[in-house]
Amino acid sequence: MNGLWPQIEPLLSRVSKPARYIGMEGGAQQPQHAPDKVAWLLAYPDTYEIGLPNQGLQILYEILNERPDAVAERTYAPWHDLEELLREHGIPLFSVDTHRSAADFDIFGFNLSAELTYTNLLNMVDLAGVPVRAADRTASHPLIAAGGHCTYNPEPLADFLDLVVLGDGEEVVAEITEVVGGWKADGRRLGDRTGVLRALAQVEGVYVPSMYRPVYSGVDLVGIETCSREVPELVEKRTIADLADFPYPKQQLVPLTEVVHDRLNVEVFRGCTRGCRFCQAGMITRPVRERPAEQVRSMVADGLRRTGYDEVSLTSLSTADYSGIEALVTDIVDAAGDGPSITVALPSLRVDAFGVGIATQLQHARRAGLTFAPEAGTWRMRQVINKLIREEDLYSAVEAAFSNGWRRVKLYFLTGLPTETDEDTLGIAELARNCVEIGRAHTRNPSVTVSVGGFVPKPFTPFQWFGQNTVEELQRKINLLRDATRRMHGVQVKWHDPKATQVEGIMSRGDRRVGAVIETVWRNGGTFQEWNERFDLSLWLDAMAEHGLDPDWYTHRHRTETEVLPWDHLSAGLHKDFLWQDWRDALAEVGLPDCRWTPCYDCGACTGYSIEHIVASATPPAGGSQGTGQDLSSTWVPVSIRSAEDVPV
Ligand code: SF4
Repeated sequence: MNGLWPQIEPLLSRVSKPARYIGMEGGAQQPQHAPDKVAWLLAYPDTYEIGLPNQGLQILYEILNERPDAVAERTYAPWHDLEELLREHGIPLFSVDTHRSAADFDIFGFNLSAELTYTNLLNMVDLAGVPVRAADRTASHPLIAAGGHCTYNPEPLADFLDLVVLGDGEEVVAEITEVVGGWKADGRRLGDRTGVLRALAQVEGVYVPSMYRPVYSGVDLVGIETCSREVPELVEKRTIADLADFPYPKQQLVPLTEVVHDRLNVEVFRGCTRGCRFCQAGMITRPVRERPAEQVRSMVADGLRRTGYDEVSLTSLSTADYSGIEALVTDIVDAAGDGPSITVALPSLRVDAFGVGIATQLQHARRAGLTFAPEAGTWRMRQVINKLIREEDLYSAVEAAFSNGWRRVKLYFLTGLPTETDEDTLGIAELARNCVEIGRAHTRNPSVTVSVGGFVPKPFTPFQWFGQNTVEELQRKINLLRDATRRMHGVQVKWHDPKATQVEGIMSRGDRRVGAVIETVWRNGGTFQEWNERFDLSLWLDAMAEHGLDPDWYTHRHRTETEVLPWDHLSAGLHKDFLWQDWRDALAEVGLPDCRWTPCYDCGACTGYSIEHIVASATPPAGGSQGTGQDLSSTWVPVSIRSAEDVPV
């Protein structure tokens, strides 16, 4: 232990969960800093137990520490009890690895996975002793960077971030390190801070907000101009072509205290071609890139040996779609042989006979229940959102679950979807009732939990033009569902707070003007807004009013085809006309089957990676295909299973 540890240690007996701040996990590193090395502080703007398992940060932590010209450490948002003590004693934010002051690093890089963590980002920068606004920083301050799914619309944070990384980080961190290393070697001169930012803006996948200027006409955003001829007009995301080149993490961190997803995680593929229209992750992570099965097997074997975990999760957006998943799982289980038994978790399973069958083999404990994600209550609504599941498919999956010994089933839905009617909302109750009835044939007290999340339209999805439901409308639909299920024995309904959904909506599609609102909410004490006990809608609405911004205009208004969107100068690889056509298809209730079994739709994602049609040439699974956009009556129509802990309700 070194750095600030002697000052931090005496405070830890006065805070909840002190293990959050001590580091020393299995796999943790204590890198040697040196003047000729670029020091990264990788940050997650939420508590340790939520941030530690983040695979993106763990991958970059290892890649950077393997480089001779870089070091990387980690930090997480201190809970407010420690924050108060740090401020009282004048101690800055610190890394958990060597307890070094955050301001001593060259790059402070955040992973942004949820909009409600934005105020925590500002708080952490401030706690580091760094000006929260990029324009107020000097060459002596760290560069404040961000990556992760939320950065596909970074404009609400544009005034606070020096640089943003779009897409996969594995390769681009090396290029950023080289640019910043050159700047350091030059005594951080390179024409002051502007010089290094201009150089970074020329790295593919790096967006430097200060090099771009939004143009407004009245309330409308009418363009985004570059401030320099040296920066690209359109910033493209980075995509690694071959996952096999990056078998990370090799030494997954093993925490000393309880965290979410506390198991070995091995990513089996990245990207998704199912085309669920509400799903930003599925759109922005295209194209699909599978890790070779042999590498998955060796990563699992090495990972289990190094970490001591007895459970491994094969992660992706839809793991049962991995080529040869059955053989892979069998191999992993067989490899354990007569040794200690291991549990294999598939967090996103297809629910057909295979999906439930494989879950039955793998799940030793039935108590946890299975989670199915039909997402909407009627077939019409599911065509709109392109979640092409028929009732009979869901019922046969539920039947398989109950008949194989499960007693609890969780159904996950969204409400507030485009074109949604009360019939669609009541369809959720009908599905739940029928699932309980199916369960009664197998168990005396079947339990079906309905979890409902409010829909937030996201950038780079076909629903990016949709006007989000108001808080009142979402609450009315939730009440309708509660009333309809009130007398249904065995059915419980849980829901996400519609007020939080509204704030997520403002951040999700907000423009640069929203930054002032985030700063005001933070200055008024609004941290940890994703925590129920800390969330306060009035802080947000008051700040919107203070800055003359209308929440309705940002969230509830439909956008037109010609409207300039705040992220139009960024690219997730998808053609905008593909997204627009998919939006029109949604309104026409036309589904668009998975492109791995159909001709390519030319969405744009595969272009340039020498992998065009690589999935489309594969053979569909036995039992039929999903048919065409007009004919969706085939027998193989999958749904996904999520483990209960993966559902964000
Ligand atoms: S480019 Fe074609 S094959 Fe690739 S993800 Fe898009 S639609 Fe599918």
